[in-house]
Amino acid sequence: MKKWAEDVEELVHSGRIKVPYTWSVGEVGSRFFIELRNNQKIYGKRCPACKKVLVPARKLCGQCFQQTDEWVEVGQQGVVQTFTVVRYSSAVQPLKPPFGYGIIKLDGADTGMTHLLWGTDPTKWQVGMRVQAVFKDKRAGNIMDIAYFRPLMA
Ligand SMILES: [Zn+2]
Repeated sequence: MKKWAEDVEELVHSGRIKVPYTWSVGEVGSRFFIELRNNQKIYGKRCPACKKVLVPARKLCGQCFQQTDEWVEVGQQGVVQTFTVVRYSSAVQPLKPPFGYGIIKLDGADTGMTHLLWGTDPTKWQVGMRVQAVFKDKRAGNIMDIAYFRPLMA
């Protein structure tokens, strides 16, 4: 199939779209983030049907479609279920490389949460390693109140 750009010079115009927005994180999200911000505690919610503790806390169980009903404080340590290491610098990176993105199942949780891994030697990291949440000193009520999870190396 012939591409139109073979017959016509393709012009490209630069522009900028600015879309400021705000939204409510809702009842469950508000309590979850307030606990992070004010108390440096991480909470999940238990599904009444499957009994799983969902972290971060959420209003509905995605497996059972039931409203969660019980708040459960989970540990600030957990196990890395999977991860990748970022080794290049970019203006949009949240941390100085090398750092990782991982899925962490906190103690007492039945689901993993995605967050950053930082500290220690990434070449030594492995699935199943234990990590510790490191909170920011100045917290704002969002998921980045946890600065990153630091691997607990033996
Ligand atoms: Zn469930």
